[in-house]
Amino acid sequence: MSASKLKAPRGTFDVLGEQAAARTALETRARTILEGAGYERIETPVFEATELFARGVGASTDIVRKEMFTFEDAGGRSLTLRPEGTAPVCRAYVEHGMHKRRQPVKLWYLSSFFRHERAQAGRYRQFWQVGAEALGSEDPALDAESIALVARLLSEMGVREVRLRLSSLGSLATRSDYRERLKEHLRTHAQSLSEEVRARIELNPLRAFDSDHPGTREVMRSAPRLLDQLAPADAEHFAEVRALLDIATVAYEVDPTLVRGLDYYTRTVFEFTSDALGAQSGVGGGGRYDGLVEELGGPPTPGVGWAAGIERILLAGGPPTAATPPVELFVAVESSEASLRATAFGLLSEARSAGLSAQMDLGGRTLKGQLGHASALGARFIAIVGEGHTVLKDTEAGEQEPIATDAVVHAVLRGHHAL
Ligand code: AMP
Repeated sequence: MSASKLKAPRGTFDVLGEQAAARTALETRARTILEGAGYERIETPVFEATELFARGVGASTDIVRKEMFTFEDAGGRSLTLRPEGTAPVCRAYVEHGMHKRRQPVKLWYLSSFFRHERAQAGRYRQFWQVGAEALGSEDPALDAESIALVARLLSEMGVREVRLRLSSLGSLATRSDYRERLKEHLRTHAQSLSEEVRARIELNPLRAFDSDHPGTREVMRSAPRLLDQLAPADAEHFAEVRALLDIATVAYEVDPTLVRGLDYYTRTVFEFTSDALGAQSGVGGGGRYDGLVEELGGPPTPGVGWAAGIERILLAGGPPTAATPPVELFVAVESSEASLRATAFGLLSEARSAGLSAQMDLGGRTLKGQLGHASALGARFIAIVGEGHTVLKDTEAGEQEPIATDAVVHAVLRGHHAL
């Protein structure tokens, strides 16, 4: 009897083959764009104290209420697999005293995140995000820069039918006054609301704007709008962000109903969607969170950031651009004799040390099989190591010549540079 086959857990997947190559290309692209704009790489731990997310993401959010993978360690401490990247980066900012550095501190990451969601196409329980956070400045240019960087990344990745929605949530004080007015509106129309929205009037009234329920949508049409009630300084900040986006020719629509699913946002919020995706159309989003660092025990520090989903960028993106790097030298052996294989292995390491991408047969193939393999890999040069002689083939020129084994690497480098 054979043992039953094990599968990756629901909502997770293996990354391999073309997918792995496409991700590498995306990571390279993201690094070029973000490090070019002054962002430094950060990686935080896969798990954190549960309290970080309860405080940093907000106890009333869907993420904290329903979607976290939380467990206890042997010492009884509650830990959670990170569901998002902003709270951990702010925790690191405080923990490493980064407020003492020159501000703003600009950080980027590409990491996996975990949410216990209903798995479907484009929605997973372990997924990857590329994201960036800029801490220590409330300059609207930083909001505009963040948005422009996401727009550039999506455009360079060939993401189709992109739309950008933009809004402002004002200050925490404005938002809290507004919440009261919105609650009142919802209570007045409670009988027309979906059960879920009605149950959350007190806890999270803003999420009513996200509902698909027809009755709720009707009620929301006449709901007060936060955007109409911004304090003058916040309205000015938002106007500045819009003006800078216009200068950077980033197209957007102002959407006063945009509320993001995290409690920490203040002022600017934005979301990129792609109509090329199905129901899960969100590609990336973010906003300003001027109170978050303080909430996590740090000094008052403004911040703005975003995250975009790797899987969704690839789903809505153009054809993968990166092929596997070409093989410059394939080392074949005339026979499977141990001393020949040892010479070949020596040549392989010498070639790699010289910076060439080199391979040799590791599957016990015949010479004919090795040559077939080399051609399948698209090898430019093939060295055939034989008893007392080595032959170097230039597959492009269609030439071959006998050569001393220790001259192969030099010849390949010369031939390579002559291209
Ligand atoms: P959020 O942190 O919820 O604003 O998510 C930012 C981006 O991450 C979204 O626009 C998606 O592209 C991606 N994302 C969020 N949750 C998931 C998920 N469960 N599976 C795949 N991608 C996700």
